[in-house]
Amino acid sequence: MPITIIIGTGISSAAYLLSVKQYLTSTNQALGNVGVVGGADLWQKMSHAHAMGQPTQLLTGNLLGRGREVRGFTPQQLSDRGFLTAGQFSRTIQHYLTQHSCAQLADSYVYRITKEGSKYLLATHVEGEIGGIITCDRVIFAPGPGPARPLATEAGILSEEEIAGFGRRIIKGNDFMSPDWTTPLSLSPEETIVAVYGGSATAAWAVELADMRKMNVTCWFTRPGRDKDAWNAKVRFSEAFPAGDRNNTVEEVYETRRHVYKLKKVESVENSTKIRLIFEQQDGRDVVTYVDLLIYALGAEHTLTQGVRSVLAPALCDSLVAYYDKNRAISSTPSLLAIGTEDRSLMVVGSAMSSAGGFGGSTLQVQGDASRTISTLAPYREINKTLPDAAKPPEGIAMVMAGIEALNEYVPARPVRGGRKAVFIPPRLTTSEGRRLPRGSANPDANRISSHDIDFEWDINFNTSNRTQLAIYIAQTTDLSPFAANLAVALIVYFRTRPENVRGLSDPQVTTIITCADLIYKKLAELNHDLDAQLLHFDKKWGAEQHVVNCVGYVTTTTEWKVFWRNEGISLT
Ligand SMILES: Cc1cc2nc3c(=O)[nH]c(=O)nc-3n(C[C@H](O)[C@H](O)[C@H](O)COP(=O)(O)OP(=O)(O)OC[C@H]3O[C@@H](n4cnc5c(N)ncnc54)[C@H](O)[C@@H]3O)c2cc1C
Repeated sequence: MPITIIIGTGISSAAYLLSVKQYLTSTNQALGNVGVVGGADLWQKMSHAHAMGQPTQLLTGNLLGRGREVRGFTPQQLSDRGFLTAGQFSRTIQHYLTQHSCAQLADSYVYRITKEGSKYLLATHVEGEIGGIITCDRVIFAPGPGPARPLATEAGILSEEEIAGFGRRIIKGNDFMSPDWTTPLSLSPEETIVAVYGGSATAAWAVELADMRKMNVTCWFTRPGRDKDAWNAKVRFSEAFPAGDRNNTVEEVYETRRHVYKLKKVESVENSTKIRLIFEQQDGRDVVTYVDLLIYALGAEHTLTQGVRSVLAPALCDSLVAYYDKNRAISSTPSLLAIGTEDRSLMVVGSAMSSAGGFGGSTLQVQGDASRTISTLAPYREINKTLPDAAKPPEGIAMVMAGIEALNEYVPARPVRGGRKAVFIPPRLTTSEGRRLPRGSANPDANRISSHDIDFEWDINFNTSNRTQLAIYIAQTTDLSPFAANLAVALIVYFRTRPENVRGLSDPQVTTIITCADLIYKKLAELNHDLDAQLLHFDKKWGAEQHVVNCVGYVTTTTEWKVFWRNEGISLT
C-alpha cells in the first residue's frame, strides 16, 4: 500500500484530500495510507471567537459540510452578514483531516524534502526537537501563504536579534492575534499605546483586536506606493477593507489615525519601555511618535530562499512543472493552480500559489508543454476575477477551494444510494478502425461488462464553482439546450462577480438565472428558425465562447434588460 504524507494542517491540505479521490479513482490510482504532518494552521492559532472575513457560503466551497443550510445557503443569504468564526472553521478542517488520514504528527516541521529512487524522504523536527526521516511515495505540500514579510525601515530589514532586543514589544500581527498572546509590559490595556504597521485586512484585524483588548491604537500606518496614488491613504489601505462590510467599523473609527508614512527609524527610548518611531511624511518632514507596542502585519510570501524553495532539495526543484487550468474551467485565460512533478507524486498546492510557491519569474515549464514556462500563465490571483467580491483575497479560502477543485477536476455530485445504473455490454466485434485491430475484429474486451451510476445527488456551491462544475450541474439537472446552458453558466459567473452581489448569489437567484437563460434561448429560437445552425456558424467564426459573451453583454447592459433582471430579484445598476 503506498504512503502519502500531507504537509500542513490547514484548509489547503483538507481541500486537496477531499477533492483528489475522484481524480485518482478516474486514473486508477489511490493515496494509500495518508499521514498528516505540520504545526497548527492559522485558524487553530487564532482566537476561536474571531469573526472571519466571509459568511459560510463563501468559505465552504464544494468540499466542506453537507446540505444547503449547513453550507450557508438559505433564501435569505444576501442579507445575511453572519460571519463564520475561526473556531467553527478550524474544527471543521480538523474533523476532515482526522477522518481522511490514519495518523497525524502534531507540531512537526519538515525542513528538507529529498528523493531517493521512487521514495521521498522528509527530514522532520517534532516540537523543535530532533525528529527523524519519514519515507513515503507521495507528498502533498500545503504550507500556506508563506513566511511573514519582515519588518523593515528605510535603512533596511530589522534582524530577528534586533527585534528580540525590544523584548516582545515588537510583534507580528498573527502572534498578536493568538489567544495565548500576553503583554510584555506591566501596563494596563488602557495605558498601552499601540502602533500598527500594514495596509492589509490582517492589519485591520490587529487594530480591531487591540481595540477589543481596550488598548489605545494611536497610529496605524502603511508605507507609500510607487505609482501616482503613492501617498493616497484611501488607496494604500484599500486591502484593509475588502468588500463585504466585515471591517466597516474599524474603517470608520480609525479613519483619522491612518497614515501613509515612510518608517525611518524604530528605537528603544532609554530608561523607558517606550518605542520611538520616526516617520517621513509626504512633504518630506519628519513625524515622531512614542508607543508601547508596535504590531506589524505586512503579508506573507514564498521567495527564492524562504518557504517552499528552502525545503525542497535543488534536484527536486529541477523536476517540477507548473500545473494550470488546462480545461479552462475557471476562465478562458488559464491561471497557475499548483506546482508539482509530472507524475503528481509531489504537489505544492493551495494558498502558497499566491506567491507561486517562490517560483514566480523562474524557468519552470508548464505541465505537458515543454515549450512554455510559468511566466506564460496568468497568476493564481486572477482566479479571484470569477469570484464574488467578498471572496477575493488572493491567499484566501475561496481561492484555495476554487483552485484545488479545478486542479483535481472535482465534480460536487454523489451517486444516489440505490439509484439507477446503466450497464455497458461491449460489442463482440470492434466497431472502429484501430491501429492494431481493424474494424470488425474480435473485441478483446467483449466480456468486460461494466456499469455506472446515472442518478446523482448535487450539493453545489454556486458562488465558488467553476464553469465546468456549473455546466455539468445544469446538464444533469435540467433539459436546457447546450447554448442556454452555456449562457446560464456565463450569467451566473457574471452576476456573482457584480458589486451588487458582494456575498454572491442565493439559490433562488441562481434558479431564476437558469430559467431566464432558457427563456432567452427559446425567444431567440422563435425569432430565428435556424438558430442552432447560426450558433454553430458563429462558434466557428468567433470561437466557442464569443457568442455567449456577446449575449451576456446584451442582456445585462440595455435598460430594458436591467429592468427585467430587477423585476426578477437580481439588481443591476
Ligand atoms: C490574520 C489572518 C486572517 C485571515 N483571514 C482570512 C479570512 O477571513 N478569509 C479568508 O478567506 N482568508 C483569510 N486569510 C488568508 C489565509 O491565508 C487563509 O485563510 C488560510 O489560512 C490559508 O490556508 P492554508 O491551509 O493554505 O495555510 P495555513 O492555514 O497557514 O496552514 C499552513 C500549514 O502548513 C504548515 N507548514 C508550513 N510549512 C511547513 C513545513 N515546512 N513543515 C511542516 N508544516 C508546514 C503549517 O504549520 C500549517 O499547518 C487570513 C490570513 C491571516 C494571516
